[in-house]
Amino acid sequence: MLGARLDGETILVHERRWESEEAFLRSAARAGRLLAPCCGAPLVLRWGQRKIRHFAHPPQVSCPYDRWSEPESAEHAAGKVLLYDWCRRHLGARLRLLALEHPLPETLQRPDVYLELDDGSRNALEYQRSAISPGEWTERHAGYAGLGIHDIWVLGRTAWRTHSPQQSSRPGGAPGSRTCTS
Ligand SMILES: [Zn+2]
Repeated sequence: MLGARLDGETILVHERRWESEEAFLRSAARAGRLLAPCCGAPLVLRWGQRKIRHFAHPPQVSCPYDRWSEPESAEHAAGKVLLYDWCRRHLGARLRLLALEHPLPETLQRPDVYLELDDGSRNALEYQRSAISPGEWTERHAGYAGLGIHDIWVLGRTAWRTHSPQQSSRPGGAPGSRTCTS
């Protein structure tokens, strides 16, 4: 995950302001000051060459929100950050709340991007990079619907190839990401 609670504030570790703060964040993690917004567990920092920097639950912590989580690949992280930034730029004045990885305790879901608008609507954006079974999608969609949340799914190439009936007849091979709205 990209967000953590640090001394009562939510920080987003992909942001540029943290780029040169590895030592500070490592020491905060060691001191147990970086807490998961979902379950409150102390988080560990993952900061390497090959993966985008992010936070993770320690292996011994079993988080109830992790049931649906995707591994934090660079593509998945980049996708949800793009969606988050797009919302902030284009919906600015209409936003009542915009959050990355916002925990929903009623269903233990944690949409990639969650937003509440000035018309009272609640919305979840999911960037689905890996393939997802119809059963899992139905369950997650029903979870949102039961809370009155409108869910919008943006499929990465793998998920799109797996689920698009038009894919075989589409000229030009692999498509880019496409949006499908429930
Ligand atoms: Zn958690």
